[in-house]
Amino acid sequence: MSEKLALDGGTPVRESALSAEYLGASLYGQEELEAIEGVINARSPFRFYGIDLQYRVKAFEKEAMSYFGFPNALAVSSGTASLVVALKAAGIGAGDKVIVPAVTFIATAGAVVCAGAVPVFCDVDDSLNMDPDKIEDLCDDYTKAVIVVPLLGNPCQMDKVMAAAKRKNLIVIEDVAQSMGCKFVGAYQGGIGDIGCFSLQLNKVITTGEGGMVVTENPKLYERAVRYHDQGMFREKEGFLNAGAQGELLIGQNYRMSELTGAVAYEQLRRLPFIIDRCKHMFDRIVGEIQDIPGLELRRIVDQEGNIGTSILAMLPTAELGERVRKGINAENITCGYLYGGNPLYLNPQIMDQRTADASGFPFNQFAEPVVYAKGMCPIAEDKMARNMLIQISPTYTDQDADDVVAAVKKVCKAVL
Ligand SMILES: *Cc1c(COP(=O)(O)O)cnc(C)c1O
Repeated sequence: MSEKLALDGGTPVRESALSAEYLGASLYGQEELEAIEGVINARSPFRFYGIDLQYRVKAFEKEAMSYFGFPNALAVSSGTASLVVALKAAGIGAGDKVIVPAVTFIATAGAVVCAGAVPVFCDVDDSLNMDPDKIEDLCDDYTKAVIVVPLLGNPCQMDKVMAAAKRKNLIVIEDVAQSMGCKFVGAYQGGIGDIGCFSLQLNKVITTGEGGMVVTENPKLYERAVRYHDQGMFREKEGFLNAGAQGELLIGQNYRMSELTGAVAYEQLRRLPFIIDRCKHMFDRIVGEIQDIPGLELRRIVDQEGNIGTSILAMLPTAELGERVRKGINAENITCGYLYGGNPLYLNPQIMDQRTADASGFPFNQFAEPVVYAKGMCPIAEDKMARNMLIQISPTYTDQDADDVVAAVKKVCKAVL
């Protein structure tokens, strides 16, 4: 006998809704407030000069370098900006192709197009991250880089990614926007490939509303990233407007971070260990109880230790059952989502139809063969995404909250599957 679902008029598992309020923002407090106050009181919101410059962006970069052990870190204005800056630092542009996962946020592919290159979609495996065994077959003479995305806190199979990239001479960019702090075999993602990209947008692990970061071990890539993000300048080396600058000069853009953002980013980074610790605890508590439910297929976690535990992504047997389970769990007052509307990225019409902001056909018209995106291109991603359910975890959850999630998932799966 299964209990009557809230969906059918039964009593919900919880009286009031449990939803994961944005990870970093849920912990905003006195520290962030004082950090902002310091910048305001100094009347110095710009990172490179001001009335009484506090160097808060610099402090954030230094803290990130020491926390993660990255040799160079550059704060930028968003996660999308971090990807554009990384691609441009790597010299990628017109006539180039970049492999991206079929399942990711649209910014991963959008940044490639912004850089003047074309995204090539790689199918996923049962981890819902890019299948590293499919990278090599997607390469042609135009392919210059691969962007891997540890999706929702779950690390990528970086040993295989790096081996494939080496064989094909690809630059490896890690888009860690959703997964700051996640690790593969003890190494922080972002520092394994050539360049790492991070976001500080509200929906990410730590947040300043908007913001991002580029990291790289390579001093040449770092210098080019600094220049691209600041109108070609490297002010710490040669001051404003490149007095005496030599061969590294290039035309850049403005992707700088403000001091107000830097001040909050610094305080948020200090909260990262707590966020990951709490989320991992809740993740283990929930997954330990739901992993053997028949018909509930949890995504494979490539490295349990390196997973930051910020969300639980699973598949149901069919799309229809997926919808019923998601509806059922939501009715029990546990927020249960549908990642990316159940679609791999390329099924979004702006990607599928290659709709750029102008009518030139660029960058898709730079190749001997036309670039074509089509349904069926990445069958595993299409199948798994259509059947997905997503439960996000908050560092503010109590053990009782986690147990409510377990109760709702068990109750609904028992009744529906
Ligand atoms: C959010 C996100 C981005 C873009 O970050 P913004 O800060 O919103 O520009 C890029 N890649 C992935 C995988 C993301 O989730």
